[in-house]
Amino acid sequence: MILHYFFMKQILPNSTIGVFGSGQLGRMFAIEARKMGYRVHTFSPESDTPTGQIADFETVADYEDLDAVKQFAQSVDVVTFEFENVPSVCVETAAEIVAVHPRGEVLHIAQNRLREKTFLQSSGFPVTAFRHIKTSEDLEKAVAEIGVPSILKTAGFGYDGKGQAKIKSIEDAASAYKNLENQEAVLEAFVDFEREVSVVAARDARGNFANYGVIENAHANHILDVSFAPASVSEKIRNEAIEIARGISETLDVVGVMTVEFFLTKDEKLLVNELAPRPHNSGHLTIDACASNQFEQQLRAVCNLPLGSTEFFRSAAMANLLGDLWDAGEPNYAAALADKQVRLHLYGKQEARRGRKMGHLTALAATTREAVELVKKARKKLIAR
Ligand code: AMP
Repeated sequence: MILHYFFMKQILPNSTIGVFGSGQLGRMFAIEARKMGYRVHTFSPESDTPTGQIADFETVADYEDLDAVKQFAQSVDVVTFEFENVPSVCVETAAEIVAVHPRGEVLHIAQNRLREKTFLQSSGFPVTAFRHIKTSEDLEKAVAEIGVPSILKTAGFGYDGKGQAKIKSIEDAASAYKNLENQEAVLEAFVDFEREVSVVAARDARGNFANYGVIENAHANHILDVSFAPASVSEKIRNEAIEIARGISETLDVVGVMTVEFFLTKDEKLLVNELAPRPHNSGHLTIDACASNQFEQQLRAVCNLPLGSTEFFRSAAMANLLGDLWDAGEPNYAAALADKQVRLHLYGKQEARRGRKMGHLTALAATTREAVELVKKARKKLIAR
């Protein structure tokens, strides 16, 4: 920690921040970075991306193109990322040239469910029962031990419920295993949760920690649908969730933003579902609701500037806008924005595919219930003709 403090130089405005990945998280990060006078250079295999539209520079190359990675690393003052499935070799190559935050090891753990759950369990953080699956025999044994229902998830490269199968009976195991196509997997107990919550936190190199309290999340078809804050949880649960997020960030020595997704069980126990070593969809409401939002915190942390205030102005709710809303043509933005408490964020994506995150709406109100109602009503109005 002390070494970090002395050797981590401040990255000042006018410097260039490198970002691996080019989606909406990078876009919202780039907007904050530009507000504070930084330049942004995004690196990803795609062009004219949500991040690239805002960034000063857009490198279009594969993450395995190590010559391009070296050139990119030489041209920036610090590197962060908005997409955690960047291959380790890419991050290691960049880290030989320039500081990368959070460090590659954090990325390595978070990009694989098995490593993530093993890390969490061995460090004493609460997780649902799980087993490592390499063969069909492993799966049969695990289903017998863990019971049904349970969920089979591929170990790597999964998000928004992709690569997941619910196992309702032992007979489901064979077909679920076949669908894995020999990928390594994790079988985990199904959690009959009361609610899902997250803690979005930031940590700097000196170990300072900031968080936005507990945010509550509702999913539809495994994709985040609506988030609101503060979550309807007791003070005790709130404190426990924050302490777990703090503990994980410290154990991993995260510099940047770290999000912890939890299940809250019916008997009031928190279980960590997943880690995201970056800003998170559930934290988008901090853009409109808080003094310093999650992207600004990422910027401050990776630049070694003091973290900002996480104070909420009012209760807030966020509703995701998926491509489905574009099925019948361009949505009715004017109708959705008729309520002055509602704000629209779109990510600059040209093609509205079903299930694709195109943007979000945020609403602020005196209570979370009101904010949720407002934001849902506004989303409905988007497709009113
Ligand atoms: P994940 O990609 O693992 O975050 O899963 C996406 C969503 O699927 C979660 O937010 C939950 O709504 C649901 N889910 C995942 N794992 C479980 C589980 N073990 N028990 C119950 N629901 C789950």
